[in-house]
Amino acid sequence: MTTQDKITKLIREDIRALSAYHVPDPGNLVKLDAMENPYGLPEDIKQEWLDILNNAKLNRYPDPDASELKKVLRELMQLHAEAEVILGNGSDELIQMIAMSVAKPDAVIMAPEPSFVMYQMIATFCKLNYVGVPLDNDFNLDMDAMLVAINASQPAVIFLAYPNNPTGNLFSESDVRQIIEAAPGLVVVDEAYTSFASHSMLSAIDDYDNLLVMRTVSKMGLAGLRLGMLMGAPAWLEEINKVRLPYNINILTQLTAEFLLKHTSLFEEQSASIRTERASMLASLNSMANVHAFPSEANFILFRITGKDPDEVFAELKTQGVLIKNMSHASPALQQCMRVTVGAPEENQTFLGCLEKCLA
Ligand code: PMP
Repeated sequence: MTTQDKITKLIREDIRALSAYHVPDPGNLVKLDAMENPYGLPEDIKQEWLDILNNAKLNRYPDPDASELKKVLRELMQLHAEAEVILGNGSDELIQMIAMSVAKPDAVIMAPEPSFVMYQMIATFCKLNYVGVPLDNDFNLDMDAMLVAINASQPAVIFLAYPNNPTGNLFSESDVRQIIEAAPGLVVVDEAYTSFASHSMLSAIDDYDNLLVMRTVSKMGLAGLRLGMLMGAPAWLEEINKVRLPYNINILTQLTAEFLLKHTSLFEEQSASIRTERASMLASLNSMANVHAFPSEANFILFRITGKDPDEVFAELKTQGVLIKNMSHASPALQQCMRVTVGAPEENQTFLGCLEKCLA
């Protein structure tokens, strides 16, 4: 039997049909494709951090419960004693843990579309059925369609990205609450971009026993750490925690996050300057004749171009040294759309200048 024959025989057909999550090599490009914070750490904080890492016991397994880190996080998010928190190697891993714990034959994961692609990908990995419900033309939740779909497919889990990726908007709070009330199972409100948003649903975990709120340190400035958190009722999290690999948060991440998350003002200032930049970038994009940029509550902006092929614009931007994300093939609702991360002012200026040239 050839290797290919063995692969065909042994690897699940639905896995063979997938493409791996593609991350382009940024090389020296101005990197505005992955919603990273452009700012690093100030030198004095970096030195203190390196001293802490210097004492990390790399020969020992890390604390499996990351108890010290959880204490810092609970304080930061002002979690009530009744709420539980579990940690993941990025919120991607938490999505996977949630999916694994409900992965019975015929179970359904639901999300509005377009939204974060990993909800569907992880549903497939776990052999779950995925139901995507199109957003309306303004990228708001189509409540009639959502309620019909919930009733018809009785999803085990509904993921709502709040703000949504890639559209950047916050859904209406009363719509989200209506969905939580109508859901027969869990609703996970994914607040990956909460540092840039005007509203959070975190306090609503006190109101509903089927609501979990998920966050990450990735977008606020620590994407390299890989740390996500899931908050909500202990009864649910106790079950989901059983599928967590024992030492999923490594010692370097635990020590780094424990230390850096005490420097809240640093990250708050960085997020504030990204929000300011976002407003000026949105205005600049909308002042271009062939561009319509959508308002954003996140650290990226979705925009639609007219009169040019987005594949060509994407390639041309790359040639000029700027990497953004071409969303035009991601969903029928995103035709002609591209997504740019809000970077540092000079990066944003470079991008805007290059885009203007490409569209001329
Ligand atoms: N949720 C949303 C909505 C996202 O956009 C992303 C990353 N793009 C994630 C979760 C995953 O974040 P993390 O880096 O914590 O895995």
